[in-house]
Amino acid sequence: MASETKEIQEFEYQAEMQQLLHLIINSLYTHPEIFLRELISNASDAINKVRFRQLTDKDLLNPDLALQIDIQLEAKENTLSIQDYGIGMTKDDLIERVGTVASSGTLELVKQLQGEGKPIDANLIGQFGVGFYSVFMVADEVAIETRHADIDSQGYRWTSKGEGKFSIEEIDRPNRGTTVTLKLKESANEFSEAYKVKNVIEKYSNFVDFPINVGEERANTVSALWYKSKSDISDEELNEFYKFVSNDSREPLGHLQLSLEGAVNFKALLFIPESPPLGIIREEDLTTPHLYSNRISIQENCKDLLPEYLRFVPGVVDTEDLPLNVSREFTQDSPVMRKIRNILVKRLLSLLGEWAEKEEEKYEKFFKSFGPLFKTGVPSDHENRDALLDLLRFESNRTEPGKFTSLKQYVEGMKEEQTEIYYLAGEHREVLERSPNLEYFKKNEIEVLFMTDPADAFILPAIDKYDEKPLKTIEKADIDVQRDAEALKEALASEDAISVIDAMKEILGDRVEDVVESKRLVDSAATLVVGDKGFDTQTERMMRMMNQEFKGSKKILEINTSHPLIKNLARIQKAESDKELIETCTLQLFEGALLNYGELETPAELLHRMTDIMERATRS
Ligand code: ADP
Repeated sequence: MASETKEIQEFEYQAEMQQLLHLIINSLYTHPEIFLRELISNASDAINKVRFRQLTDKDLLNPDLALQIDIQLEAKENTLSIQDYGIGMTKDDLIERVGTVASSGTLELVKQLQGEGKPIDANLIGQFGVGFYSVFMVADEVAIETRHADIDSQGYRWTSKGEGKFSIEEIDRPNRGTTVTLKLKESANEFSEAYKVKNVIEKYSNFVDFPINVGEERANTVSALWYKSKSDISDEELNEFYKFVSNDSREPLGHLQLSLEGAVNFKALLFIPESPPLGIIREEDLTTPHLYSNRISIQENCKDLLPEYLRFVPGVVDTEDLPLNVSREFTQDSPVMRKIRNILVKRLLSLLGEWAEKEEEKYEKFFKSFGPLFKTGVPSDHENRDALLDLLRFESNRTEPGKFTSLKQYVEGMKEEQTEIYYLAGEHREVLERSPNLEYFKKNEIEVLFMTDPADAFILPAIDKYDEKPLKTIEKADIDVQRDAEALKEALASEDAISVIDAMKEILGDRVEDVVESKRLVDSAATLVVGDKGFDTQTERMMRMMNQEFKGSKKILEINTSHPLIKNLARIQKAESDKELIETCTLQLFEGALLNYGELETPAELLHRMTDIMERATRS
């Protein structure tokens, strides 16, 4: 055999390549492990290409080679090599693809970002089509041995130390495909350990469609489930996959599988968990879908795939329409991303809509778990507002505790003459049920929605109307109710009412906005309501929480002129017999109502007055 020494050709990288290289090495050091993702992704692409060629071209080198990726580690030598029997590379490929910056203007962009002080992160680097060069974060020396899949191809060895130069020589290589060998840096020797490498594979490349072997062992356990047709996936596989993407050990409440082709191409497998981890919604615990490009992980927990109010949905979205390794900035704004997001939202909402209609219990479970976050879609997602409104659920004075009604059901159950949708906001159902403002509605069997979730205060202004009917808190002064005939018969004559009301106005002065005769009270003597510009109690409470300085609006005191106490006061007022008693009772009614509202700053005087009143009552 002629052992002629083959010619070694030396090349210089493009000038800008050297600068980029420097940037890559210096900006990615916090995530050195991504080099492996890049290499596996290249290998997987190469195998995909050969698989495609095999469909039409019988004249390929080694048609029977396994479509798999093999990783060999030598801890002693501190080397890692990754081999695929993919499409391989020609000499031109090695010069033009490996040694160049894919897109022109890349360096300018990098310099611009640097000038603006913006970080150059892993995702950004990938976008430039120079992923391969991330190997120089962990390796002092890299060799690529490769042979193209064409029958008459020649094998080559490419080597570089990443210092601006690479060399290429011809080699004898019987098989098609590529072997990349890294001489690892001392600081990166962990990548010659199987456990570490498997770990990285599980994190970034678990769903690569081809087996990845580390030594003799297969490292990627889960196949790309979302590529299978719905009928081919077992419940067990789904649950297993859910656990993997969500870190939740329970079973999901449900899932959504999509495969779309057309204006935008993607596959998705998304899950709705049973409840948030730890039972409460904390942003840092929630998981969003992983973004894949052709089975290769691009971004874990990609936030841009779903709007904020759906960011409790884990899973995978896989699209070939986005370049591998897109930057975060890019995914946010890209039209592809927007299209995908819009479709995902619509499909998720319609899945939830189906549950709401056909699987009420499941839907209620979902709503109890994620309602507080989910609802915030109402003010933020105008496009899907109608669907979102229909998916809202509330307790009401007509539901059992823990059971829900919807706006649609509310409207269906409205009284004939009723024009408004009523609600009452507060912290607990029990408190709301005791509100004097509710008396009229209870008596007349009119439904009042209970808004007990703090998020309700934020979404209410955005609801405004449903089915043309305005939503109105029954704490407002101007609700459209008619006093019933029975109560009217009992009520004070109007001049007596006016007289006692005037007296009260004088006593309360500017502590109230007004004192008026109530149409809504049935059993209680007095209540507080808010005027036109005021907020309801719950909203005020929220505002106070956000701003200590916030002062609530003045309230209107409504009095029940059919109530014996008010009638007695009117009589005393008329006789002008005991001004002091009227004053004590008025203050007591007002402060009692404030207490009920949770707005009485100190109960001292209320208690003091109460003692006085009891003393008078027991004097005999
Ligand atoms: P990207 O993969 O984003 O294009 P890389 O720097 O990772 O950028 O790779 C550059 C090019 O080198 C690839 O586009 C491909 O043409 C070629 N290449 C890299 N690895 C392989 C491989 N294992 N088999 C065949 N071609 C490869």
